[in-house]
Amino acid sequence: MRFRAPAALTVVALCALATPSAQETIDRDVSWKIRREATDNSHIMRTLQVLTDVYGPRLTGSPNLQGAAEWVVKEATAWGLKNAHLEPWEFGHPGWLNEKLSVHIVSPVKDALVVEALAWTPGTNGPITAQILPLELPQRPTKAQLTGFFDAQRAAVKGRIVMVGKPEAVTVTIDPPAKRREDSDVRAQFGGAGTPGGPQGPQPSAQKPDPDVVPPAQVTEQFDQFLVSAGAIGRVNDAGRDHGQIRAFNNRTFDIARAVPTVVMRNEDYGRLWRLSANGRPVELELNIVNRSYPEGRTQYNVVAEIPGTDKAAEVVMLGGHLDSWHSATGATDNAIGCATMLEAIRILQAIGIQPRRTIRVALWSGEEQGLLGSQAYVKEHFGTFEGPKPEHATFAGYFNIDSGTGRARGMTVFGPADAARILRDATRPFEDNGFLGVMATTSRRRGGSDHTSFNEVGLPGIGVQQDPIEYGTHTWHTNLDTYERIIEDDARQSAMVIAAAVYHLAMRNDLLPRLPKDQMPPLPTP
Ligand SMILES: [Zn+2]
Repeated sequence: MRFRAPAALTVVALCALATPSAQETIDRDVSWKIRREATDNSHIMRTLQVLTDVYGPRLTGSPNLQGAAEWVVKEATAWGLKNAHLEPWEFGHPGWLNEKLSVHIVSPVKDALVVEALAWTPGTNGPITAQILPLELPQRPTKAQLTGFFDAQRAAVKGRIVMVGKPEAVTVTIDPPAKRREDSDVRAQFGGAGTPGGPQGPQPSAQKPDPDVVPPAQVTEQFDQFLVSAGAIGRVNDAGRDHGQIRAFNNRTFDIARAVPTVVMRNEDYGRLWRLSANGRPVELELNIVNRSYPEGRTQYNVVAEIPGTDKAAEVVMLGGHLDSWHSATGATDNAIGCATMLEAIRILQAIGIQPRRTIRVALWSGEEQGLLGSQAYVKEHFGTFEGPKPEHATFAGYFNIDSGTGRARGMTVFGPADAARILRDATRPFEDNGFLGVMATTSRRRGGSDHTSFNEVGLPGIGVQQDPIEYGTHTWHTNLDTYERIIEDDARQSAMVIAAAVYHLAMRNDLLPRLPKDQMPPLPTP
């Protein structure tokens, strides 16, 4: 436990206040109350448990996500937050959920296989049995080559379950990446003078695409369409990862009529089927998949709730993360824990009875996994763009985002000038003993990664929380292993404390965070 007795804290506070670089006035009494509330009365695991066990997986458009959002509204209201409600945006696709799924090899041996359904693909309408057809797609085909390939394979795929692509040869990882970052490494990245990093303008565009070659996304789409029209029974993709990990995303068109029943199979099973077939043994599978569509999912909702401000109530500090998840697990590290952490941060501030000058607003987004869609819609609606701002653009105080798993917060990036980073670094200094070691500025307006970049893109101070990796990239991110069991409670608790303190500071200081002057704002990157 990283908890100091009040007397010790006072000493530390006096030392820190004496440091000449600390120009911000930090309310140490509030820092202390935040620590005490976070430690004595944490709601993180209860929130996490409801979001994962009760409502997971929370795929965008699904009734599970809707249930989670409505639960958050009730819970936030019960905590005393105000104006808790859902804000709609148009997703434009129906919701989708997998209800039942089993795939077995029935010949030449019998065994159960480990798979996940690809989202927005159809079910099988009862168990179906068919022979597999291993098939390798042409690499970087021209339009003519692709058409030729489809014509050559049309008769072969009819009535078959098509395995698409050779099994990935996954090599052993001899030196796994560190689960925690070294302090010295974090300090070197975030603890410096706050010089803005990141690309200053349009990125040099990558290799020019060959106009004769069909782009990979279109190959996938046309291939799916081909399987439907040629009468294939199903499709199997290789998960291509070790130890049974599966990442299953979606049919690119979000239209179940434009794909056959499709599963992603663990690499170990996929390789076995491919080898059996290559050795001349006909392989038969049985698929049984129940998927359901939800037309009401076309309209999606972000969840927001507030602690109203006082003398600067029209100015808003925001914090949040995305509530939606992929569908092959309950989305604990991506991103139920991020939501639980941000809800906890605002709950702590409510519970200790602060009277913020600015309004503090938590927002949990939907549609993040399909391209930051919920936060994009919100930013457009409330703030407009840098080039075409709405009135709220000028009075916005910052948005904190967390979305990198269970690891504790170690640093932050803020979109803006170096001084914005310096202010946040001062505000979070009382939490250095939690391993939170600094803040750096960025001037990249490139959208991607997570929802804070929807704010950066329009020139607003988006603040991305940087975390210890733990097992995020190696095991849980977007995989079938992303469950409650992988959460480290103490890490999330420490993240909530430092974020609560930083949010509080931005809600109280006299001025808004400094922004890049107009003539220093980089142009929007070309897509
Ligand atoms: Zn995420």
